[in-house]
Order: sequence, then structure tokens, then C-alpha cells
Amino acid sequence: MSAKTSVWLAFFCALGCLIHDVDLRNIQPKASQCGYQSCHATKPNMLNVHLVAHTHDDVGWLKTVDQYYYGSETRIQKAGVQYIIDSVVEALLRDPEKRFIYVESAFFFKWWKEQTTKVQDAVKMLVEQGRLEFIGGAWSMNDEATTHYQSVIDQFSWGLRLLNDTFGECGRPRVGWQIDPFGHSREMASMFAQMGFDGMFFGRLDYQDKDDRLMTKNAEMIWHGSANLGEESDLFSGALYNNYQAPDGFCFDILCSDAPIIDGKHSPDNNVKERIDTFLDFAKTQSQYYRTNNVIITMGGDFTYQAAQVYYKNLDKLIRYANERQANGSNINLLYSTPSCYLKSLHDAGITWPTKSDDFFPYASDPHAYWTGYFTSRPTLKRFERDGNHFLQVCKQLSALAPNKPEEFAPHLTFMRETLGIMQHHDAITGTEKEKVALDYAKRMSVAFRACGATTRNVLNQLTVKSRENVKDTSAKYVFEFKTCPLLNITSCPVSEVNDRFTLTLYNPLAHTVNEYVRIPVADPSYKIIDNKGVTLETQAVPIPQTLIDIKHRSSTAKYELVFLATNIPPLGYRTYYVEKLDSTEGRTKTRALPKSTSSVTVIGNSHIKLGFDTNGFLSEVTADGLTRLVSQEFLFYEGAVGNNAEFLNRSSGAYIFRPNENKIHFATDQVEIEVYKGDLVHEVHQKFNDWISQVVRVYNKDSYAEFEWLVGPIPIDDGIGKEVITRFNSDIESEGIFHTDSNGREMIKRKLNHRDTWSVKINEEVAGNYYPITTKIDLEDDTARMAILTDRAQGGSSLKDGSLELMVHRRLLKDDAFGVGEALNETEFGDGLIARGKHHLFFGKSTDREGVSLKAIERLTQLEKLLPTWKFFSNMEAYTADEWQTAFTNTFTGISLVLPKPVNLLTLEPWHENQLLVRFEHIMENGEDASYSKPVQFNVKNVLSAFDIEGIRETTLDGNAWLDEARRLQFVPDPEQAAFNTYATFSQPAESVHLLSAEKPMLGVKYAEEALPAGQLGAQSNRIKREINSEQNPAEGRSSKSTEGAYNSFKADSDNKDYIIEISPMEIRTFIVYLTPA
Ligand SMILES: [Zn+2]
Repeated sequence: MSAKTSVWLAFFCALGCLIHDVDLRNIQPKASQCGYQSCHATKPNMLNVHLVAHTHDDVGWLKTVDQYYYGSETRIQKAGVQYIIDSVVEALLRDPEKRFIYVESAFFFKWWKEQTTKVQDAVKMLVEQGRLEFIGGAWSMNDEATTHYQSVIDQFSWGLRLLNDTFGECGRPRVGWQIDPFGHSREMASMFAQMGFDGMFFGRLDYQDKDDRLMTKNAEMIWHGSANLGEESDLFSGALYNNYQAPDGFCFDILCSDAPIIDGKHSPDNNVKERIDTFLDFAKTQSQYYRTNNVIITMGGDFTYQAAQVYYKNLDKLIRYANERQANGSNINLLYSTPSCYLKSLHDAGITWPTKSDDFFPYASDPHAYWTGYFTSRPTLKRFERDGNHFLQVCKQLSALAPNKPEEFAPHLTFMRETLGIMQHHDAITGTEKEKVALDYAKRMSVAFRACGATTRNVLNQLTVKSRENVKDTSAKYVFEFKTCPLLNITSCPVSEVNDRFTLTLYNPLAHTVNEYVRIPVADPSYKIIDNKGVTLETQAVPIPQTLIDIKHRSSTAKYELVFLATNIPPLGYRTYYVEKLDSTEGRTKTRALPKSTSSVTVIGNSHIKLGFDTNGFLSEVTADGLTRLVSQEFLFYEGAVGNNAEFLNRSSGAYIFRPNENKIHFATDQVEIEVYKGDLVHEVHQKFNDWISQVVRVYNKDSYAEFEWLVGPIPIDDGIGKEVITRFNSDIESEGIFHTDSNGREMIKRKLNHRDTWSVKINEEVAGNYYPITTKIDLEDDTARMAILTDRAQGGSSLKDGSLELMVHRRLLKDDAFGVGEALNETEFGDGLIARGKHHLFFGKSTDREGVSLKAIERLTQLEKLLPTWKFFSNMEAYTADEWQTAFTNTFTGISLVLPKPVNLLTLEPWHENQLLVRFEHIMENGEDASYSKPVQFNVKNVLSAFDIEGIRETTLDGNAWLDEARRLQFVPDPEQAAFNTYATFSQPAESVHLLSAEKPMLGVKYAEEALPAGQLGAQSNRIKREINSEQNPAEGRSSKSTEGAYNSFKADSDNKDYIIEISPMEIRTFIVYLTPA
């Protein structure tokens, strides 16, 4: 007995010798038994049934994250995650045969931190032996429709990092597990592939698609994740047979009421034969729809395994009695397995697989349940999440750039990372949680803002106040407040409203110099703005629309927005502006309010783009690129269907489901009241459609696009009708049913009305069945003209008529749609219906042969500037005159010296392990979007990050936790092009036995690669850093885990700048660990 074993024994006995009967030989820790080698052996001539014990733990849904973790509020749902992990760990320790997977890092690490070292050591052993396996591993199981790729990458990076730090190689998940999200995006597949995952399993796809795929044995496939990246974005993906539930009647959990296996020999209730017969029938049936002699059966569900032993005891019996039949000729073999062990079996089957290039949206679970409502549900929470991502990036960058880094910086940043990780969950950002849970998410976000706000205030004071010589109040901890005004979206900011002198610091999180039109809420129109050099800037005061002032809960004295153009804001840096109120007699700012309603066409705009409004106040035409086209815009609403949900036809529209009542649509109005304001900086038309819909349409004088800032709510329901409000842009563009929508804010995917690429669809809901998730952009075009709209948050959208684009901006409903949330989506605040405000940016012009940069490229560049505009920090400046301020403080700063080429974005810059940065560069163009911008770009990393003392860099997988040149993925071979469905045993002719199926396994002449790919082939061009920078790397240190102890001292790049030149191609993201010289 080794010393370590006695430790285990001591530990077990400390738990009351619960595990006295355990076979100690089986729990002795052995090095690296994890991974595919820890899989139980399958039997080649049998149907191998991979039983996957799992729990699906929503990071908030009907209960808040903490209520789920601690198990409170049992009357809502009997679910306590801490008990699940406790119980599973104990069960796994009892028996080395058992397996369990865990998915949600947000819960796991909350639990982990509460454990004693002994328990942690025991869990490490389980992980090292592959008995407890992490699958997915991100902070939460993110939604795929409404999330932005930047946030998805972030939350995977963080979850995988903690797993890596804690468990090393054995903690790294190999398989994605997206069993509950409501449809699946292509970009997600691409990201999984780029993170080095071997495959991914999912639960939800359109019911027609699923039928079709099962009938033709195409439910498991190679998914081409990118139209730009090639094989490195391919991901093996499998649709699970039974969603993620146990087969009917076999949920042995304490939450279920299915019969246990009763095996008392003489018990009158003995049900072994019947239970085993039923289960094996299920397995046989399932196997007829899949290609190999392996099937995966998920044995678990929502919050199962709170008393793991109950489930496991029955699984033990299931396995034992089923496998005992093998002696009598049964050819079915049950085993404890995991998704990765199942995947490995598929891989080792050596057959070929179908391929897929589009995505799994929209998801319909029955003819009248299109899950397209959640694309828009809770629009303000969706926007708040985007703000959160924006501030998280600012917080990361400033934490990295700070000259001094007090120890509270790290926990502040971690808190915000983890909060944003939670927000990506498929019942958080989706808006499919209960109202109270949504409020809990919002509260967490606001606390995270405060935490990171403390960091940004500290850093900006360090950078601004270089000397305290001229500081007046030396007792104050900070000279400047650097406050964030979270209500700028309703033009409210106490600092700018109350003080006669204040500063505005614009922090630019992009690695490009930017110019930006800035709006400051003020009570009076007369202000003067000077920049850091003392130059007085041109301003324009625009009245705030009355509809905004009338919002009941808006407590603000602001009546105007002071507009100015901030130019040359340095990359990863800031510029501060001094704002001073003028005596009312001093030079008024230039504003020309035009007479109210007009009898002729109203035109606003500039030399790039002009918008015309008809006499009824509606947008009527757009002129750009020398084209003048009829373009109108209007607000309409669908009536939400109401039914008892007892059958498909009676489905209600709800948080998940969009189902308009008989596709009925109503115009908000046929007459719009307008006011027109024109100045030298911006032209605006203020439109009022009705008592609850208004809009400001504006064109800034240098922009080539128009901004539509909509204000919708409270949506009236006193007529007893739930409403789903859309904005619709109509044009005469002949789009022939074709339009494009983005995938998680990245690549565009072609959509066709009433069509799916991979099967012949029958759509019973004409409107809802044509809705797609729009995270950032929707567009259409013909041979001459093109129209695109950028959104500021995820929304549902479509093109239901040629030339027309619509986006759902807000919805308020009166019935639940019966998918579990148990509440109508009827958001209220301050006792009234929720009001939402947001922006659309309209691009219009030539689709081809445009002079200079293509419209698509301008859209991409603008998309980035709208995602991450400057962050606005306000400080009271009553104590300093403009002169004093200008001379005493450092009012501009940049963190980089080389501005990145335009198509390249610095996607990530954050402190990582000690003396390390995590850095990502991305090419934001797709192939063919622009003649010059869609080309590979080279630049020097060291020059970009000149603020840091860099010792070396090394490239990693997308998540930042594994070396790219060491990453290996299982390779799967696609079907030859002519592979017919009947190559395989068909559904109508079920294979007589699975043995037969296996024996007939067609090889199609293709051999799979026995060995993993040679080094560097993953992400084929991975080693394009000009030097073999990893040549000195000790292979034993191949992971970036546990690296704070100088593990990488052996790694150094020369100071020669040429070593840092990298190349990046369209849509490529390259991730690096940057090593800094220890201070
Ligand atoms: Zn879920």
C-alpha cells in the first residue's frame, strides 16, 4: 500500500468509512490515465451502448445561479448543484468502473473552492483516471443564436483555463456538449474546432431535419464551420437521439418516478426481464438510425444525480443484467462511457461521414413551435450584456496597461469575466428565464461594473496624474472620478447634468485610431468643449426628444445632447476633453431647429448619404453612391398567438417561441409627427409614430450611413393582445428571396425564404419559420444596389418580401409557451411595461463597382466601431480651470505605437498568468468582401504591443490554453461525393442485428488516418511566426498550465523584431501567450 493510498483511506474513513468496501488497488493514482485511454473497452462484434451519466445544470433559469447551487427555493425546482457534485464524487470514489461528465465550470469551481485539500486530491485522482471527465468546460453552456463570438471565446478561455490550472492536461475537455441550446450556429462549430475540440454533441435541431437525418443516417456529420478557414474549422458533430434525456421509463433519478430495477429473486415485483427487454429494444431501435455499432444513451437530465447512488445503483443493474445475456447470444454490450469515449469509437470505426455547411437555425420542435422568439426576448438584458462585454474588454486592457497593479485588480477582472460567462448561458442572454432570474443577472452585471469600475478609475488616475504637484485636494485617494454613466442610452448622466465643469475621457479599446461623434447629456445648450491641446471644438446642441423626456422613471435634468466630433482618439488609449458651461450670453452653439411639420419632402444627410421623408413623416428614399432608391421604414407589430398549448395548433407565442396570430400584422400608424434639426455636425429627424413608438433618424456629417435610434414601450396590453414589434425597411432591391444574416457576429450565412439547404422544408409558420438570429447584421442586394442593417444587440430578423428587411425590436406577451419557464414574457419596470431603446445602422449603396472601399468592408469596419466604441468616463472638474487641467495632467495616452492595419482587430488583450498576456488578433473581413481589405495582412506583434517589455510569444489554440503546434484533433473522413443514402442499412429495412450492421460497415475505400495529424497541420498555417520560436521548448512543459513558477524561462524569442512578424488571413483569429519581462 503506497503512502498515497493511506491518504485515500484516511480520507474515506473521515467520511465515516463510507467506502470501506472499495478496492484500493483500483484507486491508486496512476499518472495520465485520462483521455481516450481511460475509456472502457468496447466489443467489436456487438452493439456497444455507451451509457453517459450526466447532469444538465442550468446556470440560472427558473431559479438564480445561487439558488441552483445551494438548492434553495425547492418549491420552484428541486435542484441543488452542490449536492450533485458531492454525491457524484462519492459515488465515483466507491467504484472505479463508473464514469461521470461535468460541464458547467461556473458551478464546478464554486464547489471546488469549498472543498478541503483531501477532497480536492481525491477529485484530481478521479480526473486523472478519466472517471470524472470535463466536457464542454466553458463557464456556462452558451446560447448559440444571441451570443457574440467575442463573449463565447472569452467564456471558454476562462473555463478551460481554470480546468487547466487545476487539473492540467486531464482537465482539458475534448468534446463540446451543447445539449440544450435552441439551435446551433456554424460559428460555434468553427470556434470549437479552433479550440482543438475533437467533436461536439447537441440535442436540439428542427424536427423535420432530425427525422430526415435519422432516416438517412446523417445525424452525425463533419460540419464545415467556416466558409473562409478550410479544414481547421471542421468539427465532427452529432445530433443526440433522445435530446439529452434517458430513454422513457429509465430515469432512475430521485427527481423521476420511473421504476427501479427490482431484482429480488422471489420478489413479486421482479421486473428484470421486462426492464432489460425494453431497454435493449430502445438501444436496438436507436442503432438503426446511426452508422456504427456504437450508440450513445444519455442517462441524466436537468439537475439529476443529487443522490447519485440511486441512479448509479440501477445503472449497475442495467449493465449487469443486460450483459449477462451475452452468454445466451445477446450481441448488445452496455458500458459506462462518456461523450469522448463514444466519439473515439466513432472515429475508430473507420468509416466516412456526411458533411454540412450551413447551420441549425431556426429550430422548430413541432409544426407551430419555431424557437425564434428568444432571438429578441428581453431586449434590454441583451443590450446590457453587450455593454458588459464592452466594459470587460476595457477592464482587461486597462488592467494589462496599468503601471501599478494593486492586488484587487485580478479579482475585479475575474468577477467580471465570470459574470459575463454566466450571461452567455442559454437561459440568460436568451431571455428565457423567469423575470426574477433576469433581474438577478442584471444585478450581477451591475456589481461587475462596479468592480471593474474601481479598476478603471485607479488605472486612469495613474495614467492621468503623473505628478501630485498640482493636485489641489491631496487628501483624496483619487484626483478624478472617471465615472461611467450607465443611463447614457436614455441621455442621462448626473456628472454632466449637474456640474458646470467636467471632463469626458474617451477610452478607445480598438487598436486603430478612431474618430467618433460623441453625445453628452446637458441641461442647457451652451457649453464649450476643449481638447487636451486646448483647442476649442465645434459643438452642436440637439434637443432631446419629448418622448424620451416623458419616460416616467427617467430622473434627469438633461434637455439637450451636446454633440461633438472627437478625432484621433489613440488606439488602446484615451483622450480627455474639458467641458465648461458658458454664460447664456456667450456664443450659443450652432443649432438650427427647423419648423415643425413640413408640407414637402424633408431631406437630411450629407454628400455620402441622403435620406428623404415624405409628407406623412416616413422615410421614403435614400440616395448614396449616386443611386437614389425608394426606401421606406415603418414600425409594425404582430399579435402574439394565444392558446392552451395542449396541442401543436394551440401553441402560444412566448419567451422561446415566436408565433404570430394568423400572421396578422398591424401598422403602428399611418401618420408620423416629425421634427427636424439640422446643424453642422448632425442632421436629425425626430419621429413620433404613436404614444409608445418613436425614433430619431440621424446622419452625422462625415458618416456614410444613417442611424435609427428607436424607442419602444411600454407596449400596451390593455386590449388583451400581446405584441411583437418590428421595424421594417422596404426597398426596391430585387433580392429574389435571398438575404444574409451573421453567425455570432462573424461570417455571413446566405438565407433563402422558405428554404433550408439540407432538406426540403415544410414551413407551417410562414413568418416565424423564416426568422433567423441577427447578432450584428442582416443584408440583401441585387446586381446594382445593396442594403444592410447593423444591430446593437441580438434580434430576430428576416426578409419576408424582396427588398425588405425586418428586425424584431421588442415583444410583450400574455401567455407562456409551455416550454418550462412558466411565465408570460411580460416585462415590467416601475409598474409599467418595459421600455427599450436601441440603434440600427442603415447602409445603402452600390453592391458592386463601388469607388474605393466596398460597402461590405465599410459595414465590417463600422460593425467593429459600434461593438467597441470609446468608453465614456466622466469626472467632475469644478476644482480645476481648463488651463490648470491642461497643464497639470496627462490627458492623452496610447498603449500601442503601431496602429494595426484596418482589417485586423486586436480581439483580446488581457493579463493572463503572471508576467503573461493573452492576446488575439483577428482578420475581420471575409474572402471577397473587398478587393484590398480581404487580403492576408502581415504585421509585427512586438511593435503593436510596444507598451510592454516582451520576451517572447507563443501561439495557442483559440482558447489560449494549449499550444497550437502541439494540438492534435481526431480526423474524420467525409463521404465521397456520390455516397448515396442507401449505402447504409436503411430505416425501412432495419438491420437484422447490429452485428450485421457492423459487419456491413462500408469502408468506401477511404482509410482514416491512424495517427493524428503531424505537427502543425491543425490550423495548417499555424507556424507562420517566422522563426521556430518553440524550438527551445521542453516538451514536458507543453501546456500553459501552472506556469507561474518560471516554467517558461527556457522560452525566449530574440529581441530581433523580425521574429514577431505574423500573417493573418480573412476571418482568421490567432491567439498568443505573450511573455513579459518580470518587473
Ligand atoms: Zn438548459
